[in-house]
Amino acid sequence: MTEIIDGNAVASDIRDELTDAIETLADAGSRPGLATVLMGDDPASQTYVNMKQRDCEEVGIESHHVDVDGDAPPEKLFDTIANLNENDDVHGYIVQAPVPDHVDYRDVIRRVDPIKDVDGFHPENVGRLVAGDARFRPCTPHGVQKLLESAEIDTEGKDVTIVGRSDIVGKPLANLLIQKAEDGNATVTVCHSRTDDLAAKTRSADIVVAAAGVPELIDGSMLEDGTVVIDVGVNRVDADTDKGYELVGDVEFESAKAKASAITPVPGGVGPMTRAMLLYNTVKAAGLQEGIDVDLP
Ligand code: NAD
Repeated sequence: MTEIIDGNAVASDIRDELTDAIETLADAGSRPGLATVLMGDDPASQTYVNMKQRDCEEVGIESHHVDVDGDAPPEKLFDTIANLNENDDVHGYIVQAPVPDHVDYRDVIRRVDPIKDVDGFHPENVGRLVAGDARFRPCTPHGVQKLLESAEIDTEGKDVTIVGRSDIVGKPLANLLIQKAEDGNATVTVCHSRTDDLAAKTRSADIVVAAAGVPELIDGSMLEDGTVVIDVGVNRVDADTDKGYELVGDVEFESAKAKASAITPVPGGVGPMTRAMLLYNTVKAAGLQEGIDVDLP
């Protein structure tokens, strides 16, 4: 019987536990604050930002938002960042990607105060993570680790194949899983668009994490019996629905489920975890900046 790992349930437990930590901060006179910055009016980004604000309200994190005109010069965004770095009510903030083409996202990330970098993308935080001393684990890889932990899937000594080498998912997850740590200690293979014989790499894995952004790239024929499958992908494909599309993962769910011992669905798997771990990082950031010890889940 294949276990369907319920990301909504795990994320809900994490939010409940964060509520306790937020009360500890409140008792000490502090309320965590998260800001979102959106440059331009990309509808998908707008939806993500709205969801993040709603998540904050639900757990008692104060949410702030700044819109920056999509045609404004980069300096306008940089000024916003400088202001947020100075704002004591904002413990963490994210600049929603993608930014318009005339703005270099790396330049944006470098300007974020690393102590407020709740995405965990600033080079200082990336370096700390690689060195095994992470301050903020990036939300999606951290969410994947929490999902594995919740399903009692030990990573120690396991072969993990990660499909995708992006800076926000594949690379940080690989770095986390190879660490000499309880939720690491795996042997990790990172595949990408130039990988020769992807199926051989997924077939040799105990755990496959799909983060390629290619709809249903991985199907059951590419998996051995008993593999754990974590599907990070979220892809819009045309469909005969009211919206004209549906969301599918990077894994062909039915054929993969027939082989897997455990699998995450899309939606309802990794997505809710990414959102919960942003709240986690915000509470952590507030504790660090206010000098208050908080118990994190
Ligand atoms: P990205 O486009 O930055 O990176 C994709 C990676 O996949 C690249 O490293 C590329 O080399 C690799 N790749 C592409 N085609 C491949 C192929 N045929 N075989 C092997 N590797 C291939 O994407 P990303 O930002 O890491 O996102 C990946 C997917 O995860 C997307 O669908 C995205 O929407 C989704 N995502 C979901 C969440 C969530 O919370 N659920 C969070 C982040 C990203």
